[in-house]
Amino acid sequence: MITPKHNPWHPNDWQSELKHAFRQPIALLEYLNIADTAVNGIDLQPDFALLVPRGYAQRIERGNIQDPLLRQVLSLQSENEQTPGFVVDPLQEDDAELGYGQTPGLLHKYQGRVLMITTPACAINCRYCFRRHFPYTDHKPKDQHLALQAIAKDTSIREVILSGGDPLLMNDAGMTQLVRDIDALDHVKRIRIHSRLPIVLPERVTADLVSLLENARCKITLVIHSNHPNELNETTARALGCLRGAGVTLLNQSVLLKGINDDAHTLTTLSELLFDQGVLPYYLHMPDKVMGTAHFYLDDLEAQPIYEAMREQLPGYLLPRLVRELPGGIAKSPVNFEPKQALNFQASV
Ligand SMILES: *Cc1c(COP(=O)(O)O)cnc(C)c1O
Ligand code: SF4
Repeated sequence: MITPKHNPWHPNDWQSELKHAFRQPIALLEYLNIADTAVNGIDLQPDFALLVPRGYAQRIERGNIQDPLLRQVLSLQSENEQTPGFVVDPLQEDDAELGYGQTPGLLHKYQGRVLMITTPACAINCRYCFRRHFPYTDHKPKDQHLALQAIAKDTSIREVILSGGDPLLMNDAGMTQLVRDIDALDHVKRIRIHSRLPIVLPERVTADLVSLLENARCKITLVIHSNHPNELNETTARALGCLRGAGVTLLNQSVLLKGINDDAHTLTTLSELLFDQGVLPYYLHMPDKVMGTAHFYLDDLEAQPIYEAMREQLPGYLLPRLVRELPGGIAKSPVNFEPKQALNFQASV
């Protein structure tokens, strides 16, 4: 395991990496030696733009249109299909009562925790994203002032979750200001950052960011987002090692996705590689019914054998919790399957 004290990259590397990311399906396919004529059903001008950093594209297998990383990022015509039950805002986050209340950019659904939308942007556009249709402009993510005021007034809040988009797309100055502002609120004990950047743009883990997180008053948790073991490499190990060295608690959430990670072998390997890189599995999310993502969807019956095989093969602490989010729920809902033994027991009574 690599646990470097210092990271090897320049503080501006991540910004230039982002500038040079793939934004055109054709350019990405050319780089991967996949003839676009050979590929049916690619959307060359998607509404939800293609965006793939080069470092992520390097982890995609050349010539393989079925590659599980490529499938997460390549825009397809099937995204334009209407499927009954698949809607723009399945979690009803845009609903005044279930989602955003009085404060733009603040989502207070669960006790003691509040989620702050920091920036609408991401460093990668995941095709299955449940926020792909999110009306960010209505929620003025840039105006953090009102959100901070609301958190200051509500002393029941123990944890502030920075979300987005991807909060680590804020630059170091912006992050520093925000962490200081939250640190100044005595009743807040924890800051949690939900970010895919340590996976898709590990160069974001600059020395300044690491020392900011190391010296914050609040305890820092970083929840990364990796769906497949091929996403983890030497560079992610290095970035994650730096964060661990700074005392940051590292967790991972994944989404269960058809054709990407819907088998137990892939997901157990992911758990084990995450642990090698200092990260504990946290959640495995059932996919949400987001318009344009029906081709990734799995139902409970399909998820059950995968999750049961994971439970058989992994130590308990490497088994992510299988959950789904329901609009208006008081917490993420565990997906519970009837344990086999209990059924046998009942049958024999
Ligand atoms: C997922 C989520 C949280 C965090 O839930 P945990 O179970 O604590 O990880 C908080 N607020 C919102 C709106 C969420 O969607
Ligand atoms: S990084 Fe997260 S928020 Fe951004 S597109 Fe991917 S899933 Fe959506």
